[in-house]
Amino acid sequence: MTNSQTTTTAAAHDDINTLVLDVLRHRVGKDERAAKPHDWFQAAVLALRDKVIDRWFESTRETYDKGGKRVYYLSMEFLIGRLLRDALSNMGLTREMEAALRAHGFDLAALEELEPDAALGNGGLGRLAACFMESLASLDIPAYGYGIRYVNGMFRQRIDDGWQVELPETWLAHGNPWEFDRRESAYRVGFGGEVVESDTGVTWHPAEQVEASAVDTPVVGWQGKRVNTLRLWTAWALDPLRLDAFNAGDHFGALADQVKADSLVRVLYPADSSPAGQELRLRQEYFFSSASIQDIVRRHVQYHGDIRTLPDKAAIQLNDTHPSVAVAELMRLLIDVHGLEFDEAWEVTKKTVGYTNHTLLPEALESWPLPLFERLLPRHMQIVYAINSRVLREARRAGMDGAQISAISLIDEGGERRVRMANLAFVGAHSVNGVAALHTDLMKVTVFSDLHKLYPTRINNKTNGVTPRRWLQQCNPGLTRVVREAIGDEFLNDAQKLTALNAFAGDSGFAERVAEVKRANKVALSNHIKQLMGVRLDPDALFDVQIKRIHEYKRQLLNLIETVALYDQIRSHPERDWVPRVKIFGGKAAPSYHNAKLIIKLANDIARRVNSDPSVGGLLKVVFVPNYNVSFAERIIPAADLSEQISTAGMEASGTGNMKFALNGALTIGTLDGANIEIKDHVGDENIIIFGLTADEVNERRANGYNPRAIIEGHRELQQAVNAIASGVFSHDDPDRYKGLIGGLYDHDWFMCCADFEAYSQAQRGVDARWMDQAGWRKSAIHNIANVGWFSSDRTIGEYAKDIWGV
Ligand SMILES: *Cc1c(COP(=O)(O)O)cnc(C)c1O
Repeated sequence: MTNSQTTTTAAAHDDINTLVLDVLRHRVGKDERAAKPHDWFQAAVLALRDKVIDRWFESTRETYDKGGKRVYYLSMEFLIGRLLRDALSNMGLTREMEAALRAHGFDLAALEELEPDAALGNGGLGRLAACFMESLASLDIPAYGYGIRYVNGMFRQRIDDGWQVELPETWLAHGNPWEFDRRESAYRVGFGGEVVESDTGVTWHPAEQVEASAVDTPVVGWQGKRVNTLRLWTAWALDPLRLDAFNAGDHFGALADQVKADSLVRVLYPADSSPAGQELRLRQEYFFSSASIQDIVRRHVQYHGDIRTLPDKAAIQLNDTHPSVAVAELMRLLIDVHGLEFDEAWEVTKKTVGYTNHTLLPEALESWPLPLFERLLPRHMQIVYAINSRVLREARRAGMDGAQISAISLIDEGGERRVRMANLAFVGAHSVNGVAALHTDLMKVTVFSDLHKLYPTRINNKTNGVTPRRWLQQCNPGLTRVVREAIGDEFLNDAQKLTALNAFAGDSGFAERVAEVKRANKVALSNHIKQLMGVRLDPDALFDVQIKRIHEYKRQLLNLIETVALYDQIRSHPERDWVPRVKIFGGKAAPSYHNAKLIIKLANDIARRVNSDPSVGGLLKVVFVPNYNVSFAERIIPAADLSEQISTAGMEASGTGNMKFALNGALTIGTLDGANIEIKDHVGDENIIIFGLTADEVNERRANGYNPRAIIEGHRELQQAVNAIASGVFSHDDPDRYKGLIGGLYDHDWFMCCADFEAYSQAQRGVDARWMDQAGWRKSAIHNIANVGWFSSDRTIGEYAKDIWGV
């Protein structure tokens, strides 16, 4: 370090130290001697936030001055996790903050643990939105993220006697030092009522209204280049207390409007098994879409005057189908409020909006019962009909037949009539993208095949990515240090520069240093798990990890059956040279998803049995970690040796967990699904373990009478494993617990666990053989780290910016 650098660092340290002390006194309101760790945490965040704000203003001013185009990312979920480490690191203030806190006897890493995870998402889709926000700021692209400020968000998972129990997440219980309440940025959002047509146009008179008000969180890009805004909406009653009712003695009824507004922003994904649950969900979607579109239109008119130039200044991206109603809302504002003709409004809308599809699962493509949609959003229903008539006329003109026209229609006429939100998003956008090459190809021939024929240039691919700041630099400082020592700092600015590491794959000294880091990460994870769950893990065992939402298509069950088969094998052949393995599972199941919850229980039942069986001699351990979330992922991924990406081919749109693991030097065992295919292309066939049916083969098998029963009966190890589970070997307290689950495998096995079992277990024994050759394993791990920089969300966002947004 040069002299001048030492001086600036010392100055920065003094500066931060003074700032933190000042904040502690004057804003947290604590004396230095009386302050508790949480007070110091609060002071650290607020001090850092002060630094961030200056950049924030600069970024905003610059965008206004340049009159630049902005990106608006609408998403029902933002799974941002903790922010302190991320913001410190991106602002380049980690060391200064560490020193300032150390001077007062506090450890930054320990204070970071006090920050609750902002659990405003489910899984991959929400985490993608968070990675995208970070990359937008890092690439200096002016952007707003728009979503809902859920007070409770995603549930917190507890495991009681092996079962998932859902508890409300209370991430806001101690306030949120990151956010700014913008009560002045508020919009009314209406529901119900009637539409009146007169000479002056159409007027919607909603029966109810709530006020959406903005709460802003700054999003800092790499090296503090730009700070963007994550704007989350919260809801207020127009009349928070009906004083007349209150004074008349109806003390609860007087608060009903506020309670109703409050319920809109309580939880992510209220169970939609009841009509009331469905209605709440549609209300949430419209609530945040409407507030966001009103905000975008207001800003445009204020700064640019003419609403017709909206597409030149704004790009609105819909993250999946949830915000599709934004298409109809934008049309409504353009026509009813700004007086555009339908045709002109339609052109402006299409040019402004882009739509990202995230799933081909028919049950996940939202549609609403038409009577519900019409009752809640009568004006939007009219607009949807008008759009539909236009689209269907285009289809007719293009020579499409009746079946094609009914597939394209925004209204599903089969049985109970429903409004198809994915079709609305498709026709209302100039770009419709999938999230990995295979997924995009499948979109064209499955859910959107007829829409694709009508609008053949609209579908395009943008393979997902993850931010290397959070998913390498911050979560794995040890590996980052070793990589810097080898290839310098360039990869921090451009993850694709990691390819320089390929030259070090054969360097045994480098491989040794990478392996030391991996081991240290495994020790740290083992200590954490010991403390959390009381299970002791051997850091020299192979850490085999499957962490993600629990879903049958992700096939945690296939992994568990193979685990049982391995358990049997180890006990039958204790003389063989088994590779010690730790199987780590984690993930939440949707509260109403019976089989997913049963799979969690099964993992825990197997863990209890295996971990206490002396005859496996510590060669196999199974753990199911509770409450998997972003912070847990940041601990587990750097410690993984093997990444399980074993979905039924054709069903995982992309996956992003797969990218994070490879970036941290885990080898993937996976199917040819989602982005696994592209990861294989980047890391090379010899550095990934691919097995199982392809998407085409899965379809073929399904079409030609797949017979899982015959497979089970013809495969001794598979039969033994599933029969052990079905007959209660792991559930003495309730021997029939898994009868239904395993019965489903015999009867239909929709997700093809049986068809892929043999290939999977062979692949796992291949993994054992590779592990025995530690030098070969380490080399493959380095090739993984070196070649997955392409899966940086900077690359993904660069493609969106160029091809879709024009920024
Ligand atoms: C990355 C991530 C996911 C997505 O994982 P997949 O394996 O792609 O399903 C889900 N949850 C969390 C907390 C993540 O960080």
